[in-house]
Formats: sequence, structure tokens, C-alpha cells
Amino acid sequence: MRICRFDDDRLGLVRGEEVLDVTPALEAIPPQRWPIAPGDPLIAHLDRVLERVRALEAAAPRRALTAVRLKSPVANPTKIVNAPINYQAHIDEAKADPKLGHGRKLNHITDWGLFLKATSALIGPGEEIRLRGAERRNDHEVELAVVIGRECRKATRANALDFVAGYAIGLDMTIRGPEMPSWRKSADTYAVCGPWLTTRDEVPDPNRLRLTLAVNGETRQDSTTARMVYDVHRLIEYATSMYTLHPGDLIFSGTPEGVGPVAPGDLLSVEIERVGRFDVRIASDYAG
Ligand code: MN
Repeated sequence: MRICRFDDDRLGLVRGEEVLDVTPALEAIPPQRWPIAPGDPLIAHLDRVLERVRALEAAAPRRALTAVRLKSPVANPTKIVNAPINYQAHIDEAKADPKLGHGRKLNHITDWGLFLKATSALIGPGEEIRLRGAERRNDHEVELAVVIGRECRKATRANALDFVAGYAIGLDMTIRGPEMPSWRKSADTYAVCGPWLTTRDEVPDPNRLRLTLAVNGETRQDSTTARMVYDVHRLIEYATSMYTLHPGDLIFSGTPEGVGPVAPGDLLSVEIERVGRFDVRIASDYAG
């Protein structure tokens, strides 16, 4: 199933080119009292919500996908976990271009670990990316986003996918430069997630998906998750060796080669096989 959040936080079931408004299914989420359990309540109670969605489907009001404003399908992740240097061809291009690597030693993901993007950076495709600093180089990075479904500690390769609710497309917008990644990649709007949550059952093998990104119609990135250094199983195992993952936590799994600068007004089009596709616009002015 493809579950989206749209307009003023309505819940949608995507069928072809239409969105079925199944917002009343959110009533399946139990009310919460402080302190709230860490994680996204929709994802934490997804099974119950989807049961309601199925019951509502036949009579649900329908809208054209093009007529709704898509937000990030996950509203409240506790973390956006990111894999750096996770495709060899991206490591090679970063070694060849000092404007990408900035003197950092680019060996293996094991030397770097993972990093976090601020959750306040999160937007959906129906919103705009607003670039910081006209004097800085801002790049696109298309990545498979793994949506964690339930609390997960010390996962193993064998059980890693049991903790996955589904997948989305992550756009890890990046200011190039010498600062820490958590600074350069956490500006407001620099984490785009969408167009919807594609549930795990629709993606038999997340380690074999073509992913592409085009800027103003020109393809810049075109690869497959089969080329990841750490595959999805290993990323979950690795992340949970250090921290607990909660429902709705996102893992942006790293970007392939072809990263490059973007400018105000650009239109980014991203697609991941079986997961979905979306366009997102870069605002016509800088955030300052
Ligand atoms: Mn990235």
C-alpha cells in the first residue's frame, strides 16, 4: 500500500493517479499523554490504521494526485539517520573533486560511522526547498529512505527487515564545505521525504532498486541500491549497534555518483523503482 500525508495533515491511500482520503483511519491511533512514547504515532500503530484504511477505501472521497500537496509521510521521526560515502562511485567522485571532499579522508563507511540530520529539516515534495547562502555550493543527493516500523535495538542481518515499515525517497540536500555534516545537511527544508510510504510488502528486495534524479529534466544520478557498500540489512544492523531506532525513524541510505549543484528555481525529479517518484521545487530565493 502507498500511504501519504497531504494538505492539512490528511491521510491518503494512493491508487494509481488518485489519492483516496482516508483521514478517519487516524482515529485508530490511541490518544497519548505526556511523556509521549518516542516515535511517530501513525507508524507505531500502522497495522491498526491500515485495517481502518481498507474498510474506508470503497467509499473514500477521491482526489487527483496532482491536486494535493504532499508532505513527508512520516511527521515525527526521532532521528534521520544518514549513511555517508555508501556508494563506491560516489566516493571516487568525491576524491576527484576537492569541492566535494574538502580534504576529508574518504575511505570506507566504517571509518565514518553514520550521522544525523535534524528532524526540523524534514519536508515533503509539496513544499519547497529553500537554499542557504548564495556563496555556498548546494548539492542534491537522492537516496533510498528506509522507514523503521517498530522499536529496534541490536538488529542482525537476519532480522533487520522485520523492523521496516516501508520505504520512501529521501533527498539529502547538502551544503558543501568543511563543517560537520550534521550542520551542513540540517538546514530547514534540507531533508525531503516522499512521495508516500510504500509498505515493505511491495518491495521484495530493497537492495535491488534503480534510483534516479534529474534537474530540470536532465538526468544527473542513475544507479541502483545494489551498489551500496552497506546494504539495507547492514545499515540497520550498524545503526542499532549504537542507538535504538523508533517507529518512523528514517535511514537515508547514501547517495550514488552524479551529485551536483542546484540553484533557486530548479525542479528536482526523483524516482526509485517500486517506491515512487516525485518532483520538488527549489524556491526562487535564498533563505539568507
Ligand atoms: Mn547523503
